[in-house]
Amino acid sequence: MRLLRSVIVFILLLSGSHVEPEELSSTLRGSGESRIFVDGFRDGRTLLVFAHQDDDLVWMMPFWPSSAKFVLAGYPASPVFERLVRSFPPELNYADRWSPAWGTIDDDVFAETFTDWCKRAPIVTLESITAHLRPYFTPDVRRVVTHNNWGEYGHVQHRIVNAAVRQLAVEMGLDVWALGTRVDARSADDQSAYTDVAQGLGLPTVEGYFDANLFRTIRQKYFEAIPAASTAELTQKFRQWSPTLWTWSAAEDAFPKEWRPFIALVSRGRDLTVGNAAVERLVEEVPLTNECTMPPVLPHR
Ligand SMILES: [Zn+2]
Repeated sequence: MRLLRSVIVFILLLSGSHVEPEELSSTLRGSGESRIFVDGFRDGRTLLVFAHQDDDLVWMMPFWPSSAKFVLAGYPASPVFERLVRSFPPELNYADRWSPAWGTIDDDVFAETFTDWCKRAPIVTLESITAHLRPYFTPDVRRVVTHNNWGEYGHVQHRIVNAAVRQLAVEMGLDVWALGTRVDARSADDQSAYTDVAQGLGLPTVEGYFDANLFRTIRQKYFEAIPAASTAELTQKFRQWSPTLWTWSAAEDAFPKEWRPFIALVSRGRDLTVGNAAVERLVEEVPLTNECTMPPVLPHR
């Protein structure tokens, strides 16, 4: 029943101009000043920008109904990713809103280059991500939901996407929002790994709801998406990176469940995180992961 209700709410939200407050508040909520921010998301002028396919589900799911575009920013897509997004329940209207900022490349090229941390590191930089994102920052965009400054669990590419988005938002006078939670990747299987930290940051906050049933329905599509390339060797390389297109923990409760804080990082072009000691401390404390020179930390191998 909950799943059915979630899907109906998503359909209502996607139908555009006639969104009632109660429907929007089913995935976003806030009181006082935050209520105004929540209402703002109803204007259809929000971009969702994420490093890797599956990050928008794990870290940004409450904004699926209200986002105009889902921009994949940390690597190109390939046909296996295209098939995946087309397999999502059509009522979510995901595929039509999905946009890989680096375009789409051959599965063989993805397997050869982008499954290899050290091959992709000199390609996926702050400069290149910023350049690929810039065309999406058109005058009709008001705000962006993306990764937080500490990269949720410290992923280097989440941090680069965050930095690129904040930089562009400052240039364009936009707002930027991100999950106010820190994650311990070593215990990602368990709810206790997802700790809300928004309260001590002194930043505007709204709350977003991660619906576990809908989350697991979409995650199941990832589990069914098995990477493949044209040769046995490249297919093996692809599957060593990840046996399915789900690259985070597959455990039942391996995501931030229920109501979670989302914090404003940039407000009308002013970066609220610059000089914010509490945010800077988090960036220091959450260990950086998944750099070329580092041993793999689960997941995103
Ligand atoms: Zn990621």
